[in-house]
Amino acid sequence: MQLTNKVSLITGAASGIGFGIAKSYAEAGSTVVIVDLNREASEKAAAELSQSTKAEVIALQADVTNENTINDIVKTVVEKFGHLDVVNCNAGIQIISSFTEFTFQQWQKILNVHLNGSFLLSKAAMQQMMQQKNGGTIIVTGSVHSFLASKDKAAYVTAKHAQLGMVRAIAKEGGPYNIRANLIAPGYVLTPLVEKQIPEQAQAFGISEEDVIKNIMLKDTVDGKFTTIEDVARVSLFLASFPSNALTGQSIVVSNGWHMD
Ligand code: NAD
Repeated sequence: MQLTNKVSLITGAASGIGFGIAKSYAEAGSTVVIVDLNREASEKAAAELSQSTKAEVIALQADVTNENTINDIVKTVVEKFGHLDVVNCNAGIQIISSFTEFTFQQWQKILNVHLNGSFLLSKAAMQQMMQQKNGGTIIVTGSVHSFLASKDKAAYVTAKHAQLGMVRAIAKEGGPYNIRANLIAPGYVLTPLVEKQIPEQAQAFGISEEDVIKNIMLKDTVDGKFTTIEDVARVSLFLASFPSNALTGQSIVVSNGWHMD
Protein backbone atom coordinates (compact mmCIF):
# COMPACT_ATOMS: atom_id res chain seq x y z
CA MET A 1 0.00 0.00 0.00
CA GLN A 2 2.30 2.72 -1.30
CA LEU A 3 1.56 6.26 -2.43
CA THR A 4 4.98 7.13 -3.80
CA ASN A 5 4.94 10.21 -6.06
CA LYS A 6 1.30 10.89 -5.18
CA VAL A 7 -0.11 14.17 -3.91
CA SER A 8 -2.89 13.80 -1.33
CA LEU A 9 -5.17 16.39 0.23
CA ILE A 10 -7.13 15.68 3.41
CA THR A 11 -9.63 18.08 4.99
CA GLY A 12 -10.11 18.25 8.74
CA ALA A 13 -6.62 16.79 9.04
CA ALA A 14 -5.47 18.92 11.97
CA SER A 15 -7.25 16.54 14.36
CA GLY A 16 -8.62 13.05 14.96
CA ILE A 17 -9.31 10.75 12.01
CA GLY A 18 -8.07 13.24 9.39
CA PHE A 19 -4.71 13.54 11.11
CA GLY A 20 -4.44 9.74 11.27
CA ILE A 21 -5.20 9.50 7.56
CA ALA A 22 -2.63 12.21 6.74
CA LYS A 23 -0.05 10.31 8.80
CA SER A 24 -0.73 7.01 7.03
CA TYR A 25 -0.51 8.66 3.60
CA ALA A 26 2.75 10.43 4.51
CA GLU A 27 4.22 7.16 5.80
CA ALA A 28 3.23 5.55 2.48
CA GLY A 29 5.33 8.15 0.64
CA SER A 30 2.70 10.67 -0.45
CA THR A 31 3.15 14.41 -0.44
CA VAL A 32 0.40 15.53 1.93
CA VAL A 33 -1.69 18.69 2.07
CA ILE A 34 -3.48 19.24 5.36
CA VAL A 35 -6.53 21.46 5.00
CA ASP A 36 -8.35 22.62 8.12
CA LEU A 37 -10.30 25.52 9.57
CA ASN A 38 -7.88 25.64 12.49
CA ARG A 39 -4.70 27.30 11.20
CA GLU A 40 -2.57 26.81 14.27
CA ALA A 41 -3.48 23.14 14.71
CA SER A 42 -2.95 22.34 11.01
CA GLU A 43 0.48 23.99 10.98
CA LYS A 44 1.40 22.02 14.09
CA ALA A 45 0.13 18.81 12.49
CA ALA A 46 2.10 19.44 9.28
CA ALA A 47 5.28 20.17 11.24
CA GLU A 48 4.84 16.99 13.28
CA LEU A 49 4.31 14.81 10.20
CA SER A 50 7.19 16.44 8.28
CA GLN A 51 9.43 15.53 11.18
CA SER A 52 8.20 12.00 11.82
CA THR A 53 8.01 10.91 8.15
CA LYS A 54 10.19 11.60 5.13
CA ALA A 55 7.26 13.13 3.26
CA GLU A 56 6.64 16.74 2.31
CA VAL A 57 3.65 17.88 4.36
CA ILE A 58 2.12 21.35 4.11
CA ALA A 59 -0.85 22.98 5.83
CA LEU A 60 -3.41 25.27 4.19
CA GLN A 61 -6.07 26.96 6.28
CA ALA A 62 -9.56 26.82 4.76
CA ASP A 63 -13.24 26.54 5.50
CA VAL A 64 -14.50 23.64 3.36
CA THR A 65 -17.82 25.45 2.86
CA ASN A 66 -16.21 28.37 1.02
CA GLU A 67 -16.27 27.67 -2.73
CA ASN A 68 -13.66 30.27 -3.73
CA THR A 69 -11.25 29.18 -1.02
CA ILE A 70 -11.56 25.50 -1.95
CA ASN A 71 -11.06 26.25 -5.66
CA ASP A 72 -7.99 28.35 -4.75
CA ILE A 73 -6.60 25.55 -2.60
CA VAL A 74 -6.81 23.01 -5.43
CA LYS A 75 -5.20 25.55 -7.78
CA THR A 76 -2.40 26.26 -5.31
CA VAL A 77 -1.70 22.54 -4.80
CA VAL A 78 -1.51 21.88 -8.55
CA GLU A 79 0.70 24.94 -9.11
CA LYS A 80 3.04 23.77 -6.35
CA PHE A 81 3.13 20.02 -6.96
CA GLY A 82 1.90 19.60 -10.57
CA HIS A 83 -0.94 17.15 -9.83
CA LEU A 84 -3.51 16.04 -7.25
CA ASP A 85 -4.06 12.31 -6.91
CA VAL A 86 -5.96 11.59 -3.70
CA VAL A 87 -8.57 13.72 -1.99
CA ASN A 88 -10.16 12.81 1.32
CA CYS A 89 -13.24 14.84 2.29
CA ASN A 90 -13.11 14.34 6.03
CA ALA A 91 -13.81 17.64 7.82
CA GLY A 92 -16.78 17.34 10.09
CA ILE A 93 -18.73 18.65 13.07
CA GLN A 94 -21.54 17.35 15.24
CA ILE A 95 -24.58 18.99 16.81
CA ILE A 96 -26.72 16.91 19.16
CA SER A 97 -30.38 17.87 19.32
CA SER A 98 -33.78 16.25 19.07
CA PHE A 99 -35.36 16.67 15.63
CA THR A 100 -37.98 19.14 16.79
CA GLU A 101 -35.43 21.25 18.67
CA PHE A 102 -33.00 21.54 15.73
CA THR A 103 -32.79 25.14 14.57
CA PHE A 104 -32.70 25.67 10.82
CA GLN A 105 -29.30 27.31 11.29
CA GLN A 106 -27.88 24.22 13.05
CA TRP A 107 -29.37 21.95 10.38
CA GLN A 108 -27.80 24.03 7.60
CA LYS A 109 -24.44 24.16 9.37
CA ILE A 110 -24.14 20.38 9.55
CA LEU A 111 -25.25 19.88 5.94
CA ASN A 112 -22.94 22.66 4.84
CA VAL A 113 -19.76 21.24 6.37
CA HIS A 114 -20.36 17.55 5.60
CA LEU A 115 -22.30 17.56 2.35
CA ASN A 116 -21.64 20.89 0.65
CA GLY A 117 -18.01 20.83 1.78
CA SER A 118 -17.53 17.37 0.26
CA PHE A 119 -19.26 18.50 -2.94
CA LEU A 120 -17.08 21.60 -3.37
CA LEU A 121 -13.78 19.78 -2.90
CA SER A 122 -14.81 16.70 -4.89
CA LYS A 123 -15.92 18.92 -7.78
CA ALA A 124 -12.73 20.99 -7.87
CA ALA A 125 -10.56 17.89 -7.48
CA MET A 126 -12.48 15.99 -10.14
CA GLN A 127 -12.06 18.82 -12.64
CA GLN A 128 -8.31 18.62 -12.07
CA MET A 129 -8.21 14.80 -12.11
CA MET A 130 -10.09 14.71 -15.44
CA GLN A 131 -7.15 16.55 -17.00
CA GLN A 132 -4.58 14.16 -15.58
CA LYS A 133 -3.57 10.99 -17.40
CA ASN A 134 -3.91 8.79 -14.31
CA GLY A 135 -7.17 10.14 -12.92
CA GLY A 136 -7.34 10.03 -9.13
CA THR A 137 -9.18 8.88 -6.05
CA ILE A 138 -11.83 10.64 -3.99
CA ILE A 139 -12.55 9.28 -0.53
CA VAL A 140 -15.25 10.59 1.77
CA THR A 141 -15.31 9.95 5.51
CA GLY A 142 -18.93 8.97 5.95
CA SER A 143 -20.08 7.08 9.03
CA VAL A 144 -22.12 4.13 10.20
CA HIS A 145 -24.70 6.93 10.16
CA SER A 146 -24.47 6.74 6.34
CA PHE A 147 -26.55 3.55 6.80
CA LEU A 148 -28.54 3.89 9.99
CA ALA A 149 -29.98 6.52 12.30
CA SER A 150 -29.51 7.38 15.96
CA LYS A 151 -31.65 9.63 18.10
CA ASP A 152 -30.71 13.32 18.36
CA LYS A 153 -28.46 13.30 15.27
CA ALA A 154 -30.92 13.97 12.47
CA ALA A 155 -28.82 16.49 10.53
CA TYR A 156 -25.66 14.39 10.80
CA VAL A 157 -27.50 11.20 9.78
CA THR A 158 -29.02 13.01 6.81
CA ALA A 159 -25.69 14.48 5.70
CA LYS A 160 -23.87 11.16 6.04
CA HIS A 161 -26.53 9.28 4.04
CA ALA A 162 -26.30 11.97 1.34
CA GLN A 163 -22.51 11.66 1.16
CA LEU A 164 -22.95 8.02 0.15
CA GLY A 165 -25.23 9.02 -2.72
CA MET A 166 -22.72 11.62 -3.83
CA VAL A 167 -19.85 9.12 -3.82
CA ARG A 168 -21.85 6.70 -5.98
CA ALA A 169 -22.71 9.48 -8.44
CA ILE A 170 -19.05 10.57 -8.67
CA ALA A 171 -18.02 6.95 -9.28
CA LYS A 172 -20.40 6.72 -12.27
CA GLU A 173 -19.16 9.95 -13.86
CA GLY A 174 -15.52 9.51 -12.88
CA GLY A 175 -15.09 5.99 -14.27
CA PRO A 176 -14.18 6.96 -17.84
CA TYR A 177 -11.46 9.24 -16.45
CA ASN A 178 -10.05 6.67 -14.00
CA ILE A 179 -11.44 8.65 -11.08
CA ARG A 180 -12.61 6.41 -8.25
CA ALA A 181 -14.86 7.47 -5.38
CA ASN A 182 -15.44 5.51 -2.19
CA LEU A 183 -16.74 6.10 1.31
CA ILE A 184 -15.39 4.94 4.65
CA ALA A 185 -18.00 4.40 7.34
CA PRO A 186 -16.41 4.42 10.80
CA GLY A 187 -18.19 3.48 14.00
CA TYR A 188 -17.35 5.40 17.16
CA VAL A 189 -13.74 6.59 17.26
CA LEU A 190 -12.49 8.42 20.34
CA THR A 191 -11.61 11.82 18.84
CA PRO A 192 -12.40 15.36 20.07
CA LEU A 193 -15.68 15.17 18.10
CA VAL A 194 -16.82 12.15 20.12
CA GLU A 195 -15.28 13.19 23.45
CA LYS A 196 -17.50 16.28 23.33
CA GLN A 197 -20.61 14.17 22.73
CA ILE A 198 -20.21 11.93 25.78
CA PRO A 199 -21.20 14.53 28.43
CA GLU A 200 -23.78 16.05 26.05
CA GLN A 201 -25.53 12.70 25.57
CA ALA A 202 -25.26 11.91 29.30
CA GLN A 203 -27.15 15.10 29.99
CA ALA A 204 -29.67 14.62 27.17
CA PHE A 205 -30.58 11.06 28.22
CA GLY A 206 -30.13 11.60 31.98
CA ILE A 207 -27.54 8.80 32.31
CA SER A 208 -23.87 8.57 33.33
CA GLU A 209 -21.01 9.07 30.87
CA GLU A 210 -20.01 5.40 31.37
CA ASP A 211 -23.51 4.36 30.33
CA VAL A 212 -23.34 6.57 27.23
CA ILE A 213 -20.19 4.73 26.15
CA LYS A 214 -21.32 1.23 27.12
CA ASN A 215 -25.04 1.29 26.43
CA ILE A 216 -25.32 3.75 23.55
CA MET A 217 -22.06 4.18 21.64
CA LEU A 218 -20.54 0.70 21.84
CA LYS A 219 -23.69 -1.31 22.62
CA ASP A 220 -23.83 -3.12 19.28
CA THR A 221 -20.12 -3.65 18.65
CA VAL A 222 -18.80 -7.21 18.80
CA ASP A 223 -16.29 -6.41 21.55
CA GLY A 224 -17.41 -3.22 23.33
CA LYS A 225 -14.44 -1.34 21.89
CA PHE A 226 -14.00 1.95 20.10
CA THR A 227 -12.76 1.73 16.52
CA THR A 228 -9.34 3.38 16.41
CA ILE A 229 -7.99 6.19 14.27
CA GLU A 230 -5.37 3.74 12.98
CA ASP A 231 -8.11 1.28 11.89
CA VAL A 232 -9.78 3.97 9.81
CA ALA A 233 -6.47 5.28 8.44
CA ARG A 234 -5.49 1.77 7.30
CA VAL A 235 -8.73 1.40 5.33
CA SER A 236 -8.29 4.86 3.86
CA LEU A 237 -4.78 3.99 2.69
CA PHE A 238 -6.11 0.77 1.15
CA LEU A 239 -8.69 2.76 -0.82
CA ALA A 240 -6.22 5.52 -1.74
CA SER A 241 -3.66 3.05 -3.09
CA PHE A 242 -6.12 0.69 -4.83
CA PRO A 243 -4.98 0.69 -8.45
CA SER A 244 -8.11 0.16 -10.55
CA ASN A 245 -11.77 0.98 -11.10
CA ALA A 246 -12.67 -2.45 -9.68
CA LEU A 247 -13.21 -0.70 -6.37
CA THR A 248 -15.35 2.36 -6.91
CA GLY A 249 -18.74 3.59 -5.69
CA GLN A 250 -18.26 1.42 -2.59
CA SER A 251 -18.41 1.91 1.13
CA ILE A 252 -16.34 0.12 3.72
CA VAL A 253 -17.74 -0.04 7.24
CA VAL A 254 -15.06 0.03 9.98
CA SER A 255 -17.08 -0.22 13.17
CA ASN A 256 -16.05 -3.24 15.29
CA GLY A 257 -19.10 -5.02 13.94
CA TRP A 258 -21.60 -2.36 15.03
CA HIS A 259 -23.07 -2.22 11.54
CA MET A 260 -22.76 -5.22 9.25
CA ASP A 261 -23.34 -4.05 5.72
P1 NAD B 1 -12.34 16.01 14.96
O1 NAD B 1 -13.19 17.01 15.63
O2 NAD B 1 -11.24 15.35 15.71
O3 NAD B 1 -11.72 16.63 13.62
C1 NAD B 1 -12.49 17.36 12.72
C2 NAD B 1 -11.61 18.41 12.06
O4 NAD B 1 -12.41 19.06 11.05
C3 NAD B 1 -11.12 19.49 13.02
O5 NAD B 1 -9.71 19.64 12.90
C4 NAD B 1 -11.85 20.74 12.57
O6 NAD B 1 -11.10 21.94 12.75
C5 NAD B 1 -12.11 20.45 11.10
N1 NAD B 1 -13.22 21.21 10.55
C6 NAD B 1 -14.46 21.36 11.09
N2 NAD B 1 -15.20 22.18 10.32
C7 NAD B 1 -14.42 22.54 9.28
C8 NAD B 1 -14.61 23.38 8.15
N3 NAD B 1 -15.77 24.03 7.94
N4 NAD B 1 -13.59 23.53 7.27
C9 NAD B 1 -12.42 22.90 7.48
N5 NAD B 1 -12.16 22.11 8.53
C10 NAD B 1 -13.15 21.93 9.42
O7 NAD B 1 -13.38 14.91 14.37
P2 NAD B 1 -13.18 13.42 13.83
O8 NAD B 1 -13.89 12.54 14.77
O9 NAD B 1 -11.78 13.14 13.46
O10 NAD B 1 -14.09 13.49 12.52
C11 NAD B 1 -13.56 13.47 11.21
C12 NAD B 1 -14.63 12.92 10.27
O11 NAD B 1 -14.94 11.59 10.66
C13 NAD B 1 -15.94 13.68 10.29
O12 NAD B 1 -16.46 13.78 8.98
C14 NAD B 1 -16.85 12.81 11.14
O13 NAD B 1 -18.21 12.98 10.84
C15 NAD B 1 -16.34 11.44 10.73
N6 NAD B 1 -16.67 10.37 11.67
C16 NAD B 1 -16.19 10.42 12.95
C17 NAD B 1 -16.51 9.38 13.81
C18 NAD B 1 -16.02 9.35 15.22
O14 NAD B 1 -16.50 8.52 15.99
N7 NAD B 1 -15.06 10.20 15.62
C19 NAD B 1 -17.32 8.32 13.37
C20 NAD B 1 -17.77 8.31 12.07
C21 NAD B 1 -17.44 9.34 11.22
